Amino acid sequence: SVPLAFFGGIGRASHEGILAKGGNYLQALNRVDSVVFDKTGTLTKGTFKVTEVVPRNGFSKEDVLKFAAIAEVNSSHPIARSIAEAYGKPVDESMIKNYEEVSGTGIKARTDKGLILAGNDRMLHLENIEHGDCNINATVVHVALNRTYLGYITIADEPKDDSYKAIRSLKSLGVRKTVMLTGDNRYAAEFIAEKLGIDEYYAELLPQDKVAKLEELQRQKKKGSVVFVGDGINDAPVIARADIGVAMGALGSDAAVEAADIVLMNDNPYDLVKAIGIARRTNSIAW
Ligand code: ADP
Ligand code: MG
Repeated sequence: SVPLAFFGGIGRASHEGILAKGGNYLQALNRVDSVVFDKTGTLTKGTFKVTEVVPRNGFSKEDVLKFAAIAEVNSSHPIARSIAEAYGKPVDESMIKNYEEVSGTGIKARTDKGLILAGNDRMLHLENIEHGDCNINATVVHVALNRTYLGYITIADEPKDDSYKAIRSLKSLGVRKTVMLTGDNRYAAEFIAEKLGIDEYYAELLPQDKVAKLEELQRQKKKGSVVFVGDGINDAPVIARADIGVAMGALGSDAAVEAADIVLMNDNPYDLVKAIGIARRTNSIAW
């Protein structure tokens, strides 16, 4: 049973924008084995900006951006929004005949101009389109038109201001391991993980791979709970599976917030550290 003091703890936490859906979750935060984070939107700002457009095969930068913008016009992914902003011109949506967004991969759009693909390495591999390997520390969107490679767009995201402090504080609170999971490429993942001092990271994961990886981390745990912190629609199944599922509340998806045990209303990963602090103080009152 949950000591009554934890209900008081819920009240104190809520003043900090930390919403616990039950005293038991706050109590469980007293013993954390590992904390697993989603990358984009959780540890990073998730506000993407196009940093470079690199044409290939005799195409122009304008071509690469234009066809990417057409393919992405119906997507609400932050990547799509950054491409629309860089292109800066309106796209005639009636050009799109058929459109498919493949989660963790990219976009396939049938248009008046032909089949446009805009996505990551995995997409080009699946579609058998030749392109050079680019090991860039950023999110990369490759663009192809009628199976001809046009080039790629690099998109940068940056860590949230408090992400580094959050990771360092979790370690000093005795958390055994910090982990980052992402659908993004391994170079972008390595860059962020090293910058933040994260113990382990796993990249190029599809949504179902994230669940499998979390279960593996749960099997490896020594004692205490495995916490997962995420923000996106894709994260909801992982949040649900974690011992303690945490969602970013302000920018996070409704599905993620619904699946969560704890919601961080300020979208700040450091608030998990605060929540553990409140849990420990509450615990010392409770016993
Ligand atoms: P994360 O796991 O980092 O939150 P997602 O699962 O949303 O990221 O996406 C994983 C990867 O899939 C992205 O890094 C990108 O390479 C590719 N991707 C997803 N959606 C799109 C899109 N609309 N356009 C291009 N690429 C996309
Ligand atoms: Mg995300």
